[in-house]
Amino acid sequence: MWLNRIRQDFNLALVVTFGVITNVMILPFAAYRFLSGQNLAALIDLLIVACITLGAVHAYVSRRTRGASLFLAVTYSIGCVAIAYVAGAAGPLWTYAVLLSNFLLIERRRAALISACAIAAVAASPMALPELAHKAAFVGSSVVVSLFAFAFAWRTDLQRQQLENLATLDPLTGAGNRRAMAAQIDVAIAASARSRRPLGLITFDLDHFKQVNDRFGHEAGDHVLVQVASVVRRITRRNDRLFRLGGEEFALLIPDADASALREIAEKVRESLMREIQCGQTPITASFGGSVLGANESERQWRERADAAMYRAKREGRNRLIIDGASAPENHPYSSPTGMPSAHSAGDSTIDKSVSIGPDRLVC
Ligand code: GH3
Ligand code: MG
Ligand code: MG
Repeated sequence: MWLNRIRQDFNLALVVTFGVITNVMILPFAAYRFLSGQNLAALIDLLIVACITLGAVHAYVSRRTRGASLFLAVTYSIGCVAIAYVAGAAGPLWTYAVLLSNFLLIERRRAALISACAIAAVAASPMALPELAHKAAFVGSSVVVSLFAFAFAWRTDLQRQQLENLATLDPLTGAGNRRAMAAQIDVAIAASARSRRPLGLITFDLDHFKQVNDRFGHEAGDHVLVQVASVVRRITRRNDRLFRLGGEEFALLIPDADASALREIAEKVRESLMREIQCGQTPITASFGGSVLGANESERQWRERADAAMYRAKREGRNRLIIDGASAPENHPYSSPTGMPSAHSAGDSTIDKSVSIGPDRLVC
């Protein structure tokens, strides 16, 4: 299980690996320095090992790898400066390893700042670098190593981000995919349990979307899907997460939302889609189902309730929302924006099959 966690969490893997390497590489130095009478340097080595081990264990237990990474980088940097003042030439030599680890562990700009401080402090040490020429060579070579590390960290970050996007985003709409949804639901459930705040889910499916494709072509259908995602992202909060579950079905994961908030949000989305997106003369509509995660309810039951509510909204006439567990006026049909009686409210799927498409207008 611990191996699995390390495999899945890149930052945790990095912090734990640094913890192990530090123990294996620095403990023998500490022993050697004690035996050769360099007690202060040995003590500094032991302090570095203790701090790094503590940081790695803390990261594993608390799952907060960001703070631990910063702690490791600061410890390494202070450690190599301390060694430069206590043990002389060893300080500048360790600095190169420290510069690399800084850029691997933490965000590039922070790493650059901490590294610059470490380079300056080590260069200023009269014991480690007594001559000006040595100081200049050390600063020059350290800056080159830092620039290489900076460029490498930049490139790696970029590629990791691209890979993550490929694995988690729907390429058409940029919304999260099912895999992202599973991961983010886990995180959201844990956060909701910690904060004791409600967690809401809305699923929605575009109405009669097949007819959009049939009438206007697959490309127009694709364009509608892109617009839907863009409208939903614009009108929801930053913490709300949009996912495309497949085809023309989407889900919105909404932290800190009870049934009435869910209803408001779903209504805002329903209304915005209908107002802002049209195919021909006909607005694009969707049917919405929502549910709030219940106490002791499994994730599956919670999602099934939202799905069931959405299918009920379809059966009851489409272009409407049903929030499970909330008694609501939302179950009443909405009229179409043209003032015509909405075919969306005309009934179940059997009735939908009789829907006609006019020559210039998509009539759902
Ligand atoms: P309902 O109101 O019952 O949801 O009817 P519907 O026509 O929306 O549902 P149905 O399941 O019959 O058809 C879904 C259509 O969505 C069929 C498929 O052509 C279309 N679709 C699925 N994925 C995509 C896509 O990526 N791009 C486009 N353009 N169309 C898609
Ligand atoms: Mg549909
Ligand atoms: Mg569908």
